[in-house]
Amino acid sequence: MEKRVVFNENGCKSCGLCVQVCPANVIFLADYLNGKGYRPAAVTKQEKCISCGKCAQLCPDSVISVYRPVKVMQPV
Ligand code: SF4
Ligand code: SF4
Repeated sequence: MEKRVVFNENGCKSCGLCVQVCPANVIFLADYLNGKGYRPAAVTKQEKCISCGKCAQLCPDSVISVYRPVKVMQPV
């Protein structure tokens, strides 16, 4: 499936704010380091993300992009 939330890993400073705010509890800090030496935030269960956008609003470094699935209208 298409990704709903995308992180610019190398801009993440591992503050954990997005982990705390996510109502779906799908964000975690990865077990590897990015180019700056921080554990970047990540989501693997993309299907559990509800595209609420809270993580992107809160991130102090603006490294999160959230996408909403497009609803296709059915002809009546
Ligand atoms: S958009 Fe909402 S549900 Fe999805 S990862 Fe961010 S805070 Fe969690
Ligand atoms: S809020 Fe931003 S900087 Fe902080 S852990 Fe999440 S993605 Fe990284």
